[in-house]
Amino acid sequence: MPKRSHTEPGRALGVVRLSNVTKVTTSPGRQRATVQYLAEQAGFTLIGEAVDLGVSARATSPFDRPALGPWLRRPGSYEAVVWSHVDRAVRSVGHMSDLIAWGCAQAVTLVFGVPGESGPLIVSPEAGGATVRLAMDLAYAAEQESRAISSRLTDAHEALRAAGRYGGGLVPFGYRKAPHPSGTGWCLTPDDESASLVHAIVNRVLSGHSLTAVARWLNEEDALVPRDRHALLQGRGTGGTRHGLTFDRFRWTSGTLSKVLRSPSLMGHRVHQGRTVLDGDGRPVLIGAPVLDEGTFRTLQDLLTIRSNGTRRTRRPTSALLTRVAHCAGCGGRMYYRARKPYPYGDYVCAAPAKGLRCPAAAAMRSDWLEGYTVESYRAATGTRGPVSRADLLAAGARVTVSKGRCGGDTTRPTGPDTSRLAFTMDEAPSSAV
Ligand SMILES: [Zn+2]
Repeated sequence: MPKRSHTEPGRALGVVRLSNVTKVTTSPGRQRATVQYLAEQAGFTLIGEAVDLGVSARATSPFDRPALGPWLRRPGSYEAVVWSHVDRAVRSVGHMSDLIAWGCAQAVTLVFGVPGESGPLIVSPEAGGATVRLAMDLAYAAEQESRAISSRLTDAHEALRAAGRYGGGLVPFGYRKAPHPSGTGWCLTPDDESASLVHAIVNRVLSGHSLTAVARWLNEEDALVPRDRHALLQGRGTGGTRHGLTFDRFRWTSGTLSKVLRSPSLMGHRVHQGRTVLDGDGRPVLIGAPVLDEGTFRTLQDLLTIRSNGTRRTRRPTSALLTRVAHCAGCGGRMYYRARKPYPYGDYVCAAPAKGLRCPAAAAMRSDWLEGYTVESYRAATGTRGPVSRADLLAAGARVTVSKGRCGGDTTRPTGPDTSRLAFTMDEAPSSAV
C-alpha cells in the first residue's frame, strides 16, 4: 500500500448513490456537493468518485454495488470514503458492521454527513466505541426508514395518492386550512399573512442575516410564532407553558426559525417527520400551492447547512468553563463555546456574528487550548494547585482576551495555543468582584 507523508491531505473516494424510490432532496448533484464539502471539512482531497444510480442500498451490500464494489476491493489508492449521508451508504446495520470492519482492516476512514450537525461523522480505523455505536445507530435509523418507505408505498399507496388533502394536525407555517374544492374535507392554501412573512424571512436570510438576528427582528415586530398563529387560527389563545414557565405568547428563536425554514412544506409538500412524503412514483405528495419555489428552497437549505456550524448551540445555557470569561479582542464581546463533533474539544468563538452583530476581527480558539492556558494563568496568579471551576474564575474577575489568528501564515500544524494572541487579567480584589 503506498504510504503518504504526514503533511499531505489524505486522499478520499466520494460516493453517490440513488435508488428508484428516493427522497427528492438527494439528487446526485446535491450528494456530490455535500461529499465535496464534507471531504474538505474532514481534511481529505477527493481523488475519485463511485456513482451507483438505480441501486438500492437495502437490496445490495456496498461491496456488491456495480461502481462502489470494485473501488472497495482495491483500497490502496485512498485513505477515506465519503458519503453525503449514512443512508447513501447502507440501509442495514449488517452492512454498516461489514463496512466498519473493512475500514479497520484496510486502514480506511469512513466519513458520513449528518444533517443538523456541525461536522460529519468520522469513523477512523482507530474509532472508539461511542463513534462506532453512533454509526450503528444511524444505520439502524436508515434501515427502519427504508422499511417505513416500502410499507408506506405498498400498504398506504391509495391514501398517499389522496393528494391535496389535509387530515388534521398542525398546519405548516405559511398555510391555512380551506375547504377542499371537491366539496368534502379540507385542503391547505397559502395564508397571505404568514406566507408573506415567510418571504420576508427568507429574503433576510438570503441577504446574510443570521437566524438569531432574524428571530430578534421578528420578536421586535411582534410576529406570531407558528404555534401561536395556529392557536389563533383555531380560535384558541396564544402562549402556554414551557419549561414550567407561563408565557402570554411564545418568542421566536433561531430554533423555531430553523424548523420553519427547513420544512419542505414550504414547497407545498406533504411532510412526515421532517421529510417529504412521496407517492408511488417517487413524486412529492402536495398539500397545496407552494409558498416558496423549489429553487429558492434549495438555495436556502444549502445556505442554512453551511451556516449551521455554530448556530444550533448558541441559545442553550452552557456549562463551558470559559463562558463570560473568554472575550474577543476584536469587539470586546464574549466568546461562546461551539462543539466540534466528533472531537472531544470544541472552539471558543466570538459571539457577535451569531447575534447578528459585526465584529471587525472575530476571534476563535480551540477550547482545550484556551481552557488550559486560562487555568494555568489563574493558578500562577493565585498560587493554587487544585481544580479550577468557572465559579472560581468569575469570582476572581478572571478574563482572557483572544485576538484573531493570522490567516494561513504558518504551514506547520500547531500543537498548542499561540500565546501571543492571548491576554489574561484578573481583578485585584477577588472578594469584591462577583
Ligand atoms: Zn468579536
